[in-house]
Amino acid sequence: MAKIPPAVVVLNNSSIPVARKIISILPGAQLYGLAGRTDNVDVVFTEFGTTLRELFANGTPIIGICATGILIRTLAPLLANKRQEPPVLAVAEDGSAVVPLLGGLSGVNNLARQIADELGIKAAITTTGEIRFGVALEDPPNGYILSQPEYAKNFMSDLLAGGTVKLEGNAPWLKNSSLPIDPADERLIEITEKNISSTNNHLVYHPVTVAIGITTLSTKQGKDENLERSKEAIALVEKMLGDAELSLSSVAGVFASTDDAAEPALQTIADSLGVPIRFFTPSEIKTLIFQSDTANTAVMIALTASGGNLVMQQQSSNFICAIAIAPLPIDINSTGKPRGKLAIIGTGPGTSDWMSPEVKDILSNATDFVGYSTYLNLINSFVQGKQRHESDNREELARASMALDLAAEGRFVAVVSSGDPGIYAMAAAVFEAFEKEAKPEWQGIEIKVSPGISAMQAAAARIGAPLGHDFCTISLSDILKPWSIIEQRITVAAQGDFAIAFYNPVSKERTWQLSEARNILLRYRAAETPVVVARNLGRKGESVQVITLNDLSPELADMRTVIIVGSSKTRTIQKNDGNAWVYTPRSY
Ligand code: SAH
Repeated sequence: MAKIPPAVVVLNNSSIPVARKIISILPGAQLYGLAGRTDNVDVVFTEFGTTLRELFANGTPIIGICATGILIRTLAPLLANKRQEPPVLAVAEDGSAVVPLLGGLSGVNNLARQIADELGIKAAITTTGEIRFGVALEDPPNGYILSQPEYAKNFMSDLLAGGTVKLEGNAPWLKNSSLPIDPADERLIEITEKNISSTNNHLVYHPVTVAIGITTLSTKQGKDENLERSKEAIALVEKMLGDAELSLSSVAGVFASTDDAAEPALQTIADSLGVPIRFFTPSEIKTLIFQSDTANTAVMIALTASGGNLVMQQQSSNFICAIAIAPLPIDINSTGKPRGKLAIIGTGPGTSDWMSPEVKDILSNATDFVGYSTYLNLINSFVQGKQRHESDNREELARASMALDLAAEGRFVAVVSSGDPGIYAMAAAVFEAFEKEAKPEWQGIEIKVSPGISAMQAAAARIGAPLGHDFCTISLSDILKPWSIIEQRITVAAQGDFAIAFYNPVSKERTWQLSEARNILLRYRAAETPVVVARNLGRKGESVQVITLNDLSPELADMRTVIIVGSSKTRTIQKNDGNAWVYTPRSY
């Protein structure tokens, strides 16, 4: 049931503000930009036609910030099967018009209205049934799922030809429509959670009103046991849905207490039903007025989530489950909190070309950004309109702990480092805070590290292959570790004939360390050993120089410089244009 998030396609930079506005209301949407004409987009493309047709063919909703004609002409060859087409819309570059073009059966009009609302305009809806009756039977609003949509078209045609219809069940959008209602008619529209299907003259809508509340009776751990527990929990829930004859389409979500957030089986139930999971803090779980034996936590959770009536409760050896039905569809975005997510990401040295698609995806979707302001500024186009939590570069543990707290509140936090997050950066700080403070509410957070290209890799790539054989990295900063250790590491790395990447070589206050490092190295390595001094890689003012070990001095470097010192095997190839390649052969 997972919906593919939309692609918002732009052909030039002036369309980006409107595109970002639209993306802000569409979770997971990605910005596609034409190469050479757009900057800081999520996905760069070169062939407009091919890209659009590929997106269309795999069912990605397309929002083109461009003329309708461009979209129509590009997609025309593919318009064969109405039932399978994703929504396609054109939006005017200045945000003054939204035109739904294709995908009438996959929600294009709703998407158009959603975008129009955000832009403060009216969507250009042209569908006859919608204009005449004020509803699209084929394309119900959020919170209602039409069973067997193939019956809707004829059903609507019959009504447009003068037929009438009886309405059973509760759905304000149908009740308040201009449908020709006749309570005596055989033709029926039914709104029900029951597991029944549409037929020729009977349309069935499943309202997304069912809340599954679940609590654990024990908290044992261990991988094998988790598997067993997950199976048990899924079996319990599936049996209950079967006993109550409820349609899976009506299930809004699995709901649990934040106390149980770390129980893997709960996520497994949600995943197997294809629905979201949401958590309530114990104080949010309403204490019922008529507290009785039956009013256990699972029941209270289901009632809190639905604001409706209990259908049934059952229990297995490790879980209690309760099912309740809400009077109207449950808005999952305002009911409980999602599982908090913490992504520790590396944005690479600077340019977005050197940023992984996974990192871009996280940048587009995170709600909160935590990081040193210099790094957040580098990715400003992604951060705009989101929560920024800046801090000084040196308060790493406090920053990590704050990020974990934010995630525990259900937010999607991105902790941003430049380069790779695991190399002299925030990932280690997050795990250190996690271990030292060990707050129980952090257990349920989904933590993920997303790698980036580190400065040494960028430097190596620019100059050839200096790290082609065994190498190590050493940070010359003696703020977090004593100089005696650094000195010892340089010595043994030199003795071991490793190529060495020096991070944090100098700063305004620290200059002698680099001279000292050179002096140690010169005891073991030739004065002509090639050294790569790389500054501002992937950023404005990039420079990559090749010098000799003898010439290495602090004036050549700053905080944004990484230095690679070759091993005894590292070689320089002079090119005719005066530049050089540096590489370390793999064979001895
Ligand atoms: N996580 C980062 C390293 C952070 S430590 C990474 O993996 O690259 C900071 C040091 O990294 C700087 O002092 C410098 O030595 C190096 N560095 C980071 N970005 C750089 C860049 N764009 N160009 C050159 N060196 C860089």
